[in-house]
Amino acid sequence: MSQQKRYYVTTSIPYVNGEPHIGFALEAVQADVLARAARQRGEDTRSLSGTDENALTNVQAAEREGIPVAALVARNAARFAGLRGPLALSWDDFIRTSHDPRLVPGAQKLWRACVAADDVYKRHYTGLYCVRCERFYRQDELIDGRCPIHGIVPEQVDEENYFFRLSRYGDRLHDLIASDRLRVQPEHRKAEVLAFIGRGLADFSISRSAMRGRGWGVPVPDDPTQVMYVWVDALSNYISALDYATDGPLFHRFWRENPRRVHVIGKDILRFHAVDWPALLLSAGLPPPTTINVHEFLTLNNERISKSRGNTVDPVALAATYGTDALRYWLLREMPRAADGDFTEARLVERYERDLANDLGNLVNRVVSMIGRYRNGQVPATDATSPSGEALRSVAAAIPSKIAAGLENFDFRAALDAIWALVSAANRAVDERKPWELARAARAGDATAEHALDAVLAELAEAVRLLAWHLTPFIPDGAAAFAEQLGLSSEELLLSGSSWGTALHGRTVQQASPVFPRLEAALSS
Ligand code: ZN
Repeated sequence: MSQQKRYYVTTSIPYVNGEPHIGFALEAVQADVLARAARQRGEDTRSLSGTDENALTNVQAAEREGIPVAALVARNAARFAGLRGPLALSWDDFIRTSHDPRLVPGAQKLWRACVAADDVYKRHYTGLYCVRCERFYRQDELIDGRCPIHGIVPEQVDEENYFFRLSRYGDRLHDLIASDRLRVQPEHRKAEVLAFIGRGLADFSISRSAMRGRGWGVPVPDDPTQVMYVWVDALSNYISALDYATDGPLFHRFWRENPRRVHVIGKDILRFHAVDWPALLLSAGLPPPTTINVHEFLTLNNERISKSRGNTVDPVALAATYGTDALRYWLLREMPRAADGDFTEARLVERYERDLANDLGNLVNRVVSMIGRYRNGQVPATDATSPSGEALRSVAAAIPSKIAAGLENFDFRAALDAIWALVSAANRAVDERKPWELARAARAGDATAEHALDAVLAELAEAVRLLAWHLTPFIPDGAAAFAEQLGLSSEELLLSGSSWGTALHGRTVQQASPVFPRLEAALSS
């Protein structure tokens, strides 16, 4: 095998007891940008999404509706899988945990490996279980006797369960995370996990009675009275989907022998991913993930998104109204790295108008139409090292490392800021070098103006090409449209690379037409 770098990135797998909301859209888009950027860098990349279907809560929802659980989860899973088109998601694989033939053997193999390590034992258990969270709570974790997340009174559960010896793994987990061999970011989430581990880890229940689950769930090997605790089979999806059960080539390529195993998750499931999951893997003799990127929550008009309160927004409808790129861009640009973000449609519109329609779209439109008007559509060939282009070239040269650092640090704002520095520099170049004045002087026979006009148009065209290249992982549709206006197919754009060059010299641009029209015009047409 060559030295080609590898990259594996996953979303969490959401419960399918409801419809996808904008919070999952955020996570799906974040993971998608990481995957697209890795592919664009030429890395051997695999991205995974899916749905978590073995939860007890699905059994209850199906009973309320009077339909089989399998029918309920199939219907709802289709809605999550259906985000792919409207959000321009590019996952390579999508796993449904109640349905995928790779899941049960994968989860059972992981279970047996933990048993072989003597980390599984059976004991009687009494506890308070929130079925919506699918986890036990201690009395002191509840607020007024209710689940701190769902506000419902947890069930008193009294049964015999299998337990996992998490208590054995505290030191190793602490060491992994403190040393960043398992990178948990942003920093306050790393601190949260380290503090949690520091308080001491208790063994946790990894099964429930098959009867309580009405037989729904992944059977515990060699014990028909028990099904796996939904989190155990859910977490195993990340390796089950790589054919862990059969020790297939994907498992070696993207897990065992891949130094970048990246999960993108919400802050509410940090403990499952940064504590339980790596511990299960260590027990099974497998490498833990290398990076856990944690996003905060989106609120809607400053309220928690909640179906029961009627406070939801459908990402598919938003994309249909405002465009896929408008939604992707808003999520990536506006979501704070270390605090909750608030979504309103007014904010989405404002961001679209200011950044996409005005700063970026208008720039591209001006450049393409000036090349059309002053050069008959042909991008002039000029000296790629001319002093006049130095300002743009130096801004452009700084972008790749800033994007790489931004994405490595799970900081999409920083990455977009780096790209927007070139948007601003190019707009400044248009305003300062006034191609229309150069064109007038050139028509009057001024040879210096003629040469300066060639230079500025070629440099602006190259700036736009680089914008299209860098924006591809973030707003893939718009980036492809920019490239097309410059006369480049998506493939040609990719091949043209991320450094300042001469790929456009002599190319013919298309008729200028706004890629990001003003919304007033777009919504009324
Ligand atoms: Zn809960």
